[in-house]
Amino acid sequence: MSLFDQLVVKTMPLVPRAIIRRVAAKYIAGETLDDAMRVVQDFNTRGMHATVDVLGEFVSDPAEARLEIDAYLKLIDAIAERKLKSGVSVKLTAVGLSISPKLARENLKVLIDAAKKRDVFVRIDMEDSPYTSETLAIFEDFRNECRLGIVVQAYLKRTADDVKRLMDHGQTNFRLCKGIYVEPESIAYKDRRAVQDNYLALLDLMFTGGAQVGIATHDDYLIQESEKMIKSHGMDHARYEFQMLLGVLPELRDSIVKRGHRMRVYVPFGKAWYGYSTRRLKENPALAGYVVKSLFKAG
Ligand SMILES: Cc1cc2nc3c(=O)[nH]c(=O)nc-3n(C[C@H](O)[C@H](O)[C@H](O)COP(=O)(O)OP(=O)(O)OC[C@H]3O[C@@H](n4cnc5c(N)ncnc54)[C@H](O)[C@@H]3O)c2cc1C
Repeated sequence: MSLFDQLVVKTMPLVPRAIIRRVAAKYIAGETLDDAMRVVQDFNTRGMHATVDVLGEFVSDPAEARLEIDAYLKLIDAIAERKLKSGVSVKLTAVGLSISPKLARENLKVLIDAAKKRDVFVRIDMEDSPYTSETLAIFEDFRNECRLGIVVQAYLKRTADDVKRLMDHGQTNFRLCKGIYVEPESIAYKDRRAVQDNYLALLDLMFTGGAQVGIATHDDYLIQESEKMIKSHGMDHARYEFQMLLGVLPELRDSIVKRGHRMRVYVPFGKAWYGYSTRRLKENPALAGYVVKSLFKAG
């Protein structure tokens, strides 16, 4: 990261929200459910599946958590009614985990009952390490109640043990990603190569163990190595898919689809776009420069 980019990333909290919003617009379907459904429909028409996230996280008020659940109930109904090829992705801190695990469980139960009724797949996103164990425990509690999947992060040193345990407890649907939060060196690989090596070791573990895998990455090297592994394991198309974030490297996404793989796009929407957008911007320093350009344009 250049010094300039580092500076921009560090000073991001000072950047006016309107500018973050302009730069980040391509990562978000819009503020309304209709916006999200339009984007999903478009991907479906082009042969891709989706998973929709109602933006929101670290809710500190139970009433807010309940509002988040209400939004998910509407989302599940809309997906079912429009017969869209889409699941939903949910962050447990958005439905109450940062308040109490009990509240998160109660709220998630409501969401899961609705998803079960409508036969919509639910993916529990993985957040930062203070929540890892509880998120996995909640997944275990609900894994047989509806079509439910979990996310694991290749940068965490604990993940291989978690994956083995989850697979021992039954057929598991994973999304495998590198991990997006800043974690201490004591528990996380920091070196890019070490994270890539662990990613591929975990993918091999999942393929060998009979799991269902969402290969969630935009990393060319990982995509190429995953394709080799899919071939060498003779993996059936139904056992895996690639997953990418809305707005990130669409040409790469289309080329993966052209090579005959299933693709699912993560489609976030909602009013709480700020936290998600700043994470995306911090993650891709090259984009940070755009913030400054926008600043000048806005001026
Ligand atoms: C579908 C999906 C779901 C995810 N869910 C979670 C989750 O639940 N928990 C979690 O911790 N993390 C999640 N992530 C994020 C993930 O952990 C990584 O932080 C993120 O995908 C970047 O890693 P990468 O593997 O794409 O490789 P990188 O090496 O970071 O990226 C490869 C290339 O992709 C491009 N790129 C990457 N990010 C961006 C961006 N934001 N904007 C523009 N270009 C970009 C750049 O050109 C970069 O060189 C998810 C990612 C995806 C794709």
